[in-house]
Amino acid sequence: MLQSYKKSHELQDQYDYIVIGSGIGSLAFAAIMAKDGKKVLVLERHYTPGGYTHIFKRRGYEWDVGIHYIGEVGRERSLVRKMFDYISDGNLKWADMGDIYDRIVIGDEIFDFVKGTQNFKNQLKTYFPAPEDQEAIDKYVALVIAAIKTGQKFFMEKALPPLVSKIIGGRMRKDMLKYSRKTTLEVLSEITSNQKLITVLCGQYGDYGLPPSKSSFIIHAMVVRHYLAGGFFPVGGSSQVADTIIPVIGKAGGTVLVSAEVDEILIEKNKAVGVKMADGKIFKANTIVSGAGIFTTYNKMLPKSVFEINKLGNQLQKITPSAAHIALYIGLKGSPEELKLPKANYWVYPENCNHDKVFETYVKDYNNEFPVVYISFPSAKDPDWSNRYPGRSTIDIISVIPYDIFQKWEDGRWKKRGEDYDELKEKLSQRLLEALFKVEPHLRGKIDYYELSTPITTRHFVNYEKGEIYGLDHTPDRFEHRFLNPRTPIKNLWLTGQDIVTAGIGGALSAGLITASAIGKKNYIGKIMKG
Ligand SMILES: Cc1cc2nc3c(=O)[nH]c(=O)nc-3n(C[C@H](O)[C@H](O)[C@H](O)COP(=O)(O)OP(=O)(O)OC[C@H]3O[C@@H](n4cnc5c(N)ncnc54)[C@H](O)[C@@H]3O)c2cc1C
Repeated sequence: MLQSYKKSHELQDQYDYIVIGSGIGSLAFAAIMAKDGKKVLVLERHYTPGGYTHIFKRRGYEWDVGIHYIGEVGRERSLVRKMFDYISDGNLKWADMGDIYDRIVIGDEIFDFVKGTQNFKNQLKTYFPAPEDQEAIDKYVALVIAAIKTGQKFFMEKALPPLVSKIIGGRMRKDMLKYSRKTTLEVLSEITSNQKLITVLCGQYGDYGLPPSKSSFIIHAMVVRHYLAGGFFPVGGSSQVADTIIPVIGKAGGTVLVSAEVDEILIEKNKAVGVKMADGKIFKANTIVSGAGIFTTYNKMLPKSVFEINKLGNQLQKITPSAAHIALYIGLKGSPEELKLPKANYWVYPENCNHDKVFETYVKDYNNEFPVVYISFPSAKDPDWSNRYPGRSTIDIISVIPYDIFQKWEDGRWKKRGEDYDELKEKLSQRLLEALFKVEPHLRGKIDYYELSTPITTRHFVNYEKGEIYGLDHTPDRFEHRFLNPRTPIKNLWLTGQDIVTAGIGGALSAGLITASAIGKKNYIGKIMKG
């Protein structure tokens, strides 16, 4: 049952599990445990649930924040779909985006990514007809598929008890490490010397936030494979994710509270025993699970002495927060059909783009061309949109931005950060709008409303210190760190969410399952797949 913390009633002092944050990882964990008869309390700091799956409404429009498309849910037997069906009791429905899910725009050229592995390859081959490129495309897709097959063992190893992991963990991890240790650029350069082909194949790199020379090949492969069977959007919008899962938690006796900020995780003799809320109230539990991100959990919620005794600083030093982002939320008068909005996303890149070079140039000076602009048309993807918002449409445009540009405003109040902040926002908004007009020129003059979120907005609402878009960077190193695991050095304190698997709804969702399996010592995956 969803309640606001201030208006909540019938709360108990003791729970089996307290879950910090209500991102998809936390909600998945809470639903699995509640359905298994455990007493669960989910505490969410924001006034609305869902973490990055939350939506917001303004001026008669509604925007999705962290879901633009999800793969694999079109296949009823896929783990992602089975998981969603299990935790929402089958109430979360999916709308197919159609044949084209991503359109890679490089200068004036467009490269479509189409649904179905064979179709994907065939379409790419029309853009790259040379025999050596055709061969490279076949090799590439085969490699992507081979790489992701090694992932399940790698990630399920995280659910093993330490002793078992010591014995067989190395074997379960080693196959995937062969792929994760190389950068995307290294692997693609072994397949082809055609730089344009590499640029196109990396056209979705914004989905994992790092350009080819910095990202691990495994995250590239996971994202590419995730969408190969097409993109899907929740019917009724992203809010349906939390709105369908929370009643399942409620029906099983659990509680989800919003506007409920955890100030501190209470530790006695290096054992987590409960949490102290921002207003001082204490809740106790046998087990505390945090889905708020490893940096937020360790830096903001643990007493300094606990942080130091457990040498958590050594862990945090080895990982880096992912890039910060800006997002322009646009409202238009007219239905998606009237405005001819596509369902496919655009990834817009500069002419003759080399992803690494343009990324580097931009990071040095954000006045240079955006290295990547992502444009999504959520209202066109949701078949229920026009029932809720007749005669209206929305568009989201996202790009990366160095956090330090916004740092000076981090202590200001929301909506009251001053004229210079508003001016910078306006300048960035106009640049993003130009990227939209480049691919959909007929929309010029049709914009009714727009609003830019900055890394400070993300910090304010989702508590990611540096406005991170994806939690942690997906470098080759990331996959070496065994501490990115549900288990922490503190007894009865566990982690879940994107940081322990990978970013993305699928990654964070699996994290919920892995944490549940690790704590519950049960084969929930078998139970879910059987359902
Ligand atoms: C702009 C954007 C676009 C994206 N697009 C896609 C997409 O199209 N497809 C896709 O698969 N993925 C996408 N992602 C990624 C995806 O949304 C995330 O990887 C995923 O939702 C993360 O889930 P999580 O469980 O780790 O928790 P999060 O969603 O990160 O939630 C963490 C929660 O913890 C809460 N919290 C923090 N501190 C406290 C505290 N002290 N007390 C209580 N609660 C606290 C926060 O308020 C937050 O609600 C996108 C992300 C962004 C930002």
